[in-house]
Amino acid sequence: MAPQPGYETMTFRRCGRSGLDLPAVALGLWQNFGETTPASTQREIVTRAVELGITHIDLANNYGPPPGAAEKSFGRMLAEDLPGLRDELVISTKAGYTMWPGPYGDGGSRKYLLASLDQSLERLGLPYVDIFYSHRFDPTTPLRETLGALKTAVDSGRALYAGISSYSARRTREALAVAESIGLDLLVHQPSYSIVNRWIEDRSDTGESVLDVLGESGLGAVVFSPLAQGLLTDKYLGGIPEGSRAAQDGSFKRDMLTPDLVERVRGLNEVASGRGQSLAQMAIAWVLRDPRVSTALVGASSVRQLEDSVAALENLEFSAEELEAIDRLGMD
Ligand code: NDP
Repeated sequence: MAPQPGYETMTFRRCGRSGLDLPAVALGLWQNFGETTPASTQREIVTRAVELGITHIDLANNYGPPPGAAEKSFGRMLAEDLPGLRDELVISTKAGYTMWPGPYGDGGSRKYLLASLDQSLERLGLPYVDIFYSHRFDPTTPLRETLGALKTAVDSGRALYAGISSYSARRTREALAVAESIGLDLLVHQPSYSIVNRWIEDRSDTGESVLDVLGESGLGAVVFSPLAQGLLTDKYLGGIPEGSRAAQDGSFKRDMLTPDLVERVRGLNEVASGRGQSLAQMAIAWVLRDPRVSTALVGASSVRQLEDSVAALENLEFSAEELEAIDRLGMD
């Protein structure tokens, strides 16, 4: 039987100036949903996510390992474990990073984006996704071509909405202008953001930050890695636990965990304790303190982690003193 989505307990926020509500916490399948994670663990996490009211699941063509495996796995779970729930879920995918060899398996060309989307739909077993993203700005491809491909995706019914990911403030402005000129409504931007990674607040390039552009234009913000891949939790305070992302030394390099950084995280952990929260919960609440952010997009390697993360929503208020302490500890 399919789980009952936990609408009563989840907080929903409007995604920018659109008609789409998103859960304040969403689940991404970048890691822990490939062929190296048992299917039973994946199923437990995804089913529990839905029970907790997480109605938005984020994917990309290359999530695995190997690339494509997360979409395949989620397609199977959707059919077997979440029957009848398709219309209650917002499923996103992306293309932009290397997916297959040769010049047509990477970047922002129309050739790559549309072929990749078709492959994603095949793996997911779906006729359409809710959101299709350009995963990165490609400086070698005209934005008109990349965004034109997103428009074709929407116009042809393969995606309901279009988004961009990791575009700078300058490129976001350009993308909005091009989108308007071709009659494409962009829904959302997906950038990274956390207490220790504040690049979307930076105004040094054009005088406006990514967040400024989003607030002004009404583009929504779904922010990824709010836990800085697990750094902003208590898990690394006593060393590097076996099986953790840092222990795998892949996307999270263990060299990052310098004694100075671990001390700052310890300080942040104390601020969180003073709020009656885990550090993970405070880190999620912190990105959601900005009303332009609809959603904190988290990863999880266990049900326990996901439950802990979603409970962040029980306390989203910060005092000025807490914010000041977080700034002092979180910024280099
Ligand atoms: P997070 O910052 O949420 O890191 C998730 C990791 O943190 C988990 O795998 C786990 O690490 C640890 N963790 C999670 N919750 C807890 C908890 N409550 N207590 C202790 N540890 C916890 O996000 P991700 O980096 O995983 O990214 C989230 C999603 O964002 C991705 O799945 C993807 O959908 C999207 N994303 C998008 C990108 C883009 O270019 N658009 C790039 C990267 C991510 P461990 O595995 O060690 O247990």
